[in-house]
Amino acid sequence: MEAETIIAGALALARRREHLCRHASPCPNCGTNQVQLIDGLCNPALWRCRECRKGFEYEPESKMLVNNLNHN
Ligand SMILES: [Zn+2]
Repeated sequence: MEAETIIAGALALARRREHLCRHASPCPNCGTNQVQLIDGLCNPALWRCRECRKGFEYEPESKMLVNNLNHN
């Protein structure tokens, strides 16, 4: 694999993790906001609650593309 491809992939993953953490969902089991991103590679992303230790899947909706399209 090319070095550029690896770096681009790492950057894309870092951006995705940042987006996911910014739009994290409260725990569906106990409702706390103390959730931790476990796996941002899969879709939906994998999270775990720090309070009740339950794992869950959650994928935040991205509205950025829609806003850009309407901005003419
Ligand atoms: Zn919980």
